[in-house]
Amino acid sequence: MKLTILGCYSATPRALNNTTSQVLEINNHMFLIDCGEGTQVQLRKHRIKFNRIKHIFISHLHGDHFFGLVGLISTFRLLTRETDLHIYGPKGIKEVITLQMKLADSWTNYNLIFHELTSKKSKLVFEDDKVVVHTIPLNHRVYTNGFLFKEKEGERKLDIVAVENANIDTAYFRKLKQGFDVENRDGVLIDNKKVTKPAKKPKSYAFCSDTMYKEDIVPIIKNVDVLYHESTFLEKHANLALKTKHSTAKEAAKIAKFANVGTLVLGHYSTRYDGLNAFKEEAQTVFDNVELSEDGKVFNF
Ligand SMILES: [Zn+2]
Repeated sequence: MKLTILGCYSATPRALNNTTSQVLEINNHMFLIDCGEGTQVQLRKHRIKFNRIKHIFISHLHGDHFFGLVGLISTFRLLTRETDLHIYGPKGIKEVITLQMKLADSWTNYNLIFHELTSKKSKLVFEDDKVVVHTIPLNHRVYTNGFLFKEKEGERKLDIVAVENANIDTAYFRKLKQGFDVENRDGVLIDNKKVTKPAKKPKSYAFCSDTMYKEDIVPIIKNVDVLYHESTFLEKHANLALKTKHSTAKEAAKIAKFANVGTLVLGHYSTRYDGLNAFKEEAQTVFDNVELSEDGKVFNF
């Protein structure tokens, strides 16, 4: 999995700060998560091929998370895109995009498919043979979901030497990879574990922004490899976090600790602070493995 942070600041785009957007590469998918204003410029800067984006996940309809969407949709049209585009987001997203396009007497020459979300429970929104995506219901001023991206358990790997020694016909290799015991050429049942190795551990990534401290997401994101959790404020502004339904760096770290995640990535910073180190330091009083997202930063995991 490769995560590219296109923007990780709250509120408004500035000369050096972009609002929320990121690209997650997972099993040949290139998922765009949120699409703040200027996202298409960031995509170009980071040489991400527009055509590879087939699914866009929008957490909520605050501008700093989706004002770039109509522009991107429009640019796709100018680039004569033909590939379907799936958009997952809160109910209303279809109306707002459709209205803008209608008033411009414009429409796409590719299929634009909206998957509108209304549930307050975690729901499956995407699945293929390798990857599954669920929503993570969050608590913010408007209806908001995070997204949990998970690789499916892969096939077991053949231990070629062991397979040959066990005298198993190649016709059974598929069954072996799927974990079944099979008979060898002499009719003897062979224990799968003696001739195969476990599949590599499936990776998982949880995106949680925007939200106030919400402990009941912990079971949904338990043991993920990487958790991106918003930390708009530091504890000294905990009152503001509460009022605006955002989180502090310390609260993000508490969620990471309770969920036993591998790495916590902080983001959605308020631009009122000088520098980001204070976010990391505050989070590390609770949870060790903390990384700071920064515009343009790439995480491989
Ligand atoms: Zn928001």
